[in-house]
Amino acid sequence: MSTFSAPKGTYDLLPPDSATFLAVREAIAAPLRRSGYGYVETPGFEHVELFSRGVGQSTDIVTKEMYTLTTKGGTDLALRPEGTASVLRAALQANLHRAGNLPVKLWYSGTYYRYERPQAGRYRHFSQVGAEAIGAEDPALDAELVILAADAYRALGLSGVRLLLNSLGDRECRPAYRAALQDFLRGLDLDEETRARIEINPLRVLDDKRPDVQRQLDGAPLLVDHLCESCKEYHERVRELLTAAGVAFTDDPRLVRGLDYYTRTTFEFVHDGLGSQSAVGGGGRYDGLSELIGGPPLPSVGWALGVDRTVLALRAEGVELPVPAGTDVFAVPLGEEARRTLFGVVTELRRAGVAADFAYGGRSAKASMKAANRSGARFAVVAGERDLAEGVVQVKDLDSGEQAPVALDGLAAELAARLSGGAADA
Ligand code: AMP
Repeated sequence: MSTFSAPKGTYDLLPPDSATFLAVREAIAAPLRRSGYGYVETPGFEHVELFSRGVGQSTDIVTKEMYTLTTKGGTDLALRPEGTASVLRAALQANLHRAGNLPVKLWYSGTYYRYERPQAGRYRHFSQVGAEAIGAEDPALDAELVILAADAYRALGLSGVRLLLNSLGDRECRPAYRAALQDFLRGLDLDEETRARIEINPLRVLDDKRPDVQRQLDGAPLLVDHLCESCKEYHERVRELLTAAGVAFTDDPRLVRGLDYYTRTTFEFVHDGLGSQSAVGGGGRYDGLSELIGGPPLPSVGWALGVDRTVLALRAEGVELPVPAGTDVFAVPLGEEARRTLFGVVTELRRAGVAADFAYGGRSAKASMKAANRSGARFAVVAGERDLAEGVVQVKDLDSGEQAPVALDGLAAELAARLSGGAADA
């Protein structure tokens, strides 16, 4: 039998690279934890209608990219293609919005599934960290989320992330703009699928990446010129707050993004070192989504940052994240008695908070020392019968090669102290 390989468009996270993914998730989550966002986890699959209604019937995500399945009981489910609809569904279901403390602020970290054409930076199974602030309309809340994302990228050491900003208007001003845009688009030379899109969701045509389409869009009416007074004012406030916080942005009047639910503030973070899949994260305000999925009016705003592409951006910039050493101390027993004693030492070290590992498998002293070196540990603890008879072990500094006996009694404390930079009291 041949061995299996991971399905197309997926990849495994393996050490040592997997440590970078954990560090990226943590770096994105840290500013959220400090800002009143609570952790939420939702199922990997949902009722298919949640996404077809929530994300939008006309989006590629729903029409082409959703992994759907019918259960044995006849229920239509979909692997989640994005996080917002699920998180809002969960908040509504648990009545979090009725607890009287709006906005409900939630963050999540998980894997998402889209049946896309795989290429560098675009996978069928990918990972996002996201944040949603549900039930408040306040430019400061939009600004907060954008600032937290920008701060996360900065904390990671990325300098090439650019922020694109737009407003998509609201129920007041968007219909008139939509009609004007439709009039314009109907006069263009477009393929049938795109013509159909003009009737369902004309704003999405602005997002078409094909050069021949982009060329024709040159004189298209722009939403900025059609925003109502309250949307204009709201957007201006968001822009002022970002500027005051030192977050640079570029106004992009064509930015619409691939989901139907956005209103007003819309943004995308892009990185120029990633080729065609340049979006590292994005989000915006979605004031109408709650009603679309059967909830009360709950104006909300959120974002999702792609973990995979953030890792690619770090690589493109040559940024190495400081990842904690996997092992600080590696124990090498010489003989059976030492095996029992050092196994006990390793357990004690771990309980004292020191990352420790052990030469398993009863291999030769030489092979065990090689394993110690390969582990990346700072110290090897080596002991044979004679050492134990004297109540000591040999502690070898694997950086300098220096080796000296240390009393077995109090060994864990001594090593913990050496690792934290000092020596234990005698
Ligand atoms: P979206 O929900 O499409 O706005 O996606 C938010 C972020 O998730 C994007 O900016 C990407 O960084 C990431 N992302 C979306 N789709 C994929 C994919 N197929 N593969 C890898 N990352 C993705």
